[in-house]
Amino acid sequence: MEMDVRGNPGLLKLDLYCKGMRLDDSCLVEEDGGRKVLRTRAGLGSGLELILPGGLWTNVPVAEPFAKASPYVLKRRAGSYVIYREPDVEPVTAVTLSPRPDWYDRKTATGKPMTRIGTLQGTYLGVYQAKVCEYWTEKIKVNCKFCSVGLNLGIDDAEQKSLDEVMEVVWAARRESGITYVDFNTGHYEGETYLDILEPFVQRIKKEVGLLVGIQTPPHKDLRRYDALREMGLNRVSFCFEIFDPELFKETCPGKTREYGLERYLEAVRYCAALGKKGPRTEPWVTNGEIIAGLEAPESSIRAIDWITSVGAIPTVCVFRPLVGTDYQHLPPPKTEDMAPIFARLYEACMERGLPIGAAPDIHVSLVMLPEECRWLTDRRYPLKELKLALLGKAVRFGLGRRLRAREKKFGPPLRLEAA
Ligand code: SF4
Repeated sequence: MEMDVRGNPGLLKLDLYCKGMRLDDSCLVEEDGGRKVLRTRAGLGSGLELILPGGLWTNVPVAEPFAKASPYVLKRRAGSYVIYREPDVEPVTAVTLSPRPDWYDRKTATGKPMTRIGTLQGTYLGVYQAKVCEYWTEKIKVNCKFCSVGLNLGIDDAEQKSLDEVMEVVWAARRESGITYVDFNTGHYEGETYLDILEPFVQRIKKEVGLLVGIQTPPHKDLRRYDALREMGLNRVSFCFEIFDPELFKETCPGKTREYGLERYLEAVRYCAALGKKGPRTEPWVTNGEIIAGLEAPESSIRAIDWITSVGAIPTVCVFRPLVGTDYQHLPPPKTEDMAPIFARLYEACMERGLPIGAAPDIHVSLVMLPEECRWLTDRRYPLKELKLALLGKAVRFGLGRRLRAREKKFGPPLRLEAA
């Protein structure tokens, strides 16, 4: 494996998550069409959206104190952006700012800035639906200790998002940013209402736009609800249990421990992964178990990856980021050398199990290392399985493209492009 970040964009993406980056005074991010730093996603997002060589989209920590000590610095040189590494101030690589779409500067028909309804995370649309997670609003807060959701909402996200408002933003993002996927994220709500809240959105997007749709919520007690969602055409469910070590899970996620417990998260992952064999064959189906690397021993994260893949689910592995204002803001970010074996294992485990990674078209994720991007972090190769995945990707792209064109013709609303 190439150990020099100048020749290995996967390693660079990981190193930037762990070390962050400074912005030189020469940077004019928004004036140059880049995206403002928005803190809108559960837990771990806060940084500058960039595209690295190899088409790797990323979100680089720039606001946290640890980023001030980073050897990486972004400079603007003759209108282009280059990452340099100090102390020798050697150029590492040229990068591109993730483009800020025109709809970022517009409002919905109801007068809300579209970015308060949804934002691009890489190349997909992320919507934090409904009110703030209730772990944040109890008298004695029981929020997850790395999470910043309760700090963010009302600042960058709107509290109420109607079906029509979300549809308006989905259409804008589809037409102008070419999204193929919408992801809904909720926290915990008393009475486990999150699926009731999200189902109408899933139904309407599937019916009218035809995009791939995913949800990330706590595990509902009635697992048959996921059969119904699969039937509805939902494409992804994600369960964030964060930590595989049972004791650390309790310590880090007091609300999740009280309401659900680690075992219920694992049961939901296991149950939903088995739904791949049921439901409409035209709709791809993926179950994710999400963990945060850097909050437990690397061996424990690797055990989590092996368990998730063993039941047929795909791990989503975030790198811990000590966000300003969170309970864990004082913790150091993880070290790249501790993280690299975890992400190498992520790729290897998915390939060994023949899991469908990287098959959905045009989805680049900035907040995590995608399993297929972790190919950069291992020397192991799986030529036959990689060929199979490439063919699967082509088939999904073909089917989805046909469906999107048909829906646009039938349901596409008239263009509304007036500025905010
Ligand atoms: S469940 Fe935990 S991580 Fe998710 S929004 Fe609530 S406090 Fe944050």
